Amino acid sequence: MHKALETRLEINLKALKHNFKVIKSHLKAETKIMGVVKAFAYGSDSVIIGKALQDLGVKYLAVAYIEEGVRLRKAGVKCPILIFYPQLEELSQLLEFELTPSVYSFHFLKSLHQNLKQQGIKDFPIHLKINTGMNRLGFDEHQFQDVKTCLSDRETLKLKGIFSHLSAAGMPEEKKFTLSQIKRFKTAVKVFEAYAHEDLITHLCNSSGILNYAEAEMGMVRAGIALYGYGNHPAEHKMLKPIASLKAPIAQLRWIEKGDSVGYDRKFKAQNKRQIATLPLGYADGISRMYGNGNGIVKLHGNTAPIVGNVCMDTLMVDVTDIDCKEGDEVLIFGEGHTALDFDINQLSIPYELITRISQRVSRIIIDN
Ligand SMILES: *Cc1c(COP(=O)(O)O)cnc(C)c1O
Repeated sequence: MHKALETRLEINLKALKHNFKVIKSHLKAETKIMGVVKAFAYGSDSVIIGKALQDLGVKYLAVAYIEEGVRLRKAGVKCPILIFYPQLEELSQLLEFELTPSVYSFHFLKSLHQNLKQQGIKDFPIHLKINTGMNRLGFDEHQFQDVKTCLSDRETLKLKGIFSHLSAAGMPEEKKFTLSQIKRFKTAVKVFEAYAHEDLITHLCNSSGILNYAEAEMGMVRAGIALYGYGNHPAEHKMLKPIASLKAPIAQLRWIEKGDSVGYDRKFKAQNKRQIATLPLGYADGISRMYGNGNGIVKLHGNTAPIVGNVCMDTLMVDVTDIDCKEGDEVLIFGEGHTALDFDINQLSIPYELITRISQRVSRIIIDN
């Protein structure tokens, strides 16, 4: 099959720049931006996006796991990289590749300290994670005193940053809760501020926080989903452009008659004559089976077409009865002009999950014009 006609994920760096500008326009000029590139930069390509973001002026990058940070370092990324969920098993890599851990537990903090001491490493930067209501990871207020005690070897550990995470910054109806998180975070900053060597980098906002809560801006923000063109609320999506477009060619077209079925378990049965297009991507490429049987909508020559029958491992079928098309024509699963929200017509999931699930089997094509 012709190269351009493979199933592919096109990554548009111009759209990334647009989204970056939108984010910047919500911030004070001096506020630092951390670009979150975990999970292959939300399913795109962490090295390409990480480098593009460095060029755009982000001060930090962030990933979830140490291995993801190592990948960036090996590709030549020089800026500080925060690891949200460092695992003790990979501590040697953390040190070797100069990655900055998020510290959210005494267990990790003590092991890190001991390790640094043993190796004679000084001034090792860490960011302290505070729980302000998400109840996922982070120190609670009653632990602050003990945390200070653990940080007392200031020669070894350098408290460089402090942060927390908002649970519902995209939900206007949770404003009161979000404001309480902001307040708790500011209290924690006061407690630890005196403890930092130099200016403590404070950060609380994710994308929705950036777009909705100017009062939570602090010294740095962590931009994730908005960079990739989505938000958590229609008002947020509106300003942004999806950077990734998932496309596939029609592998085969056929007409079926009334009573004929499509795919495994015969989940689709034609009520009348239908034209069915088979696309070369399936659940192994990241299109979940839950999008079968009309739950997923694709776009072709300006028209929409529903997925019919069950999604297969490597293929799926769409109903293109009313669309003038031929084999080889390009179908947009989701992306620019037909977003992940348009694809997921019954909102069975969220754009975060749809875009991060595109598997590594799908070629990534970078577009920069
Ligand atoms: C993923 C993540 C972010 C980015 O959130 P978005 O909603 O994608 O902007 C920020 N902070 C932490 C701790 C995260 O895990």
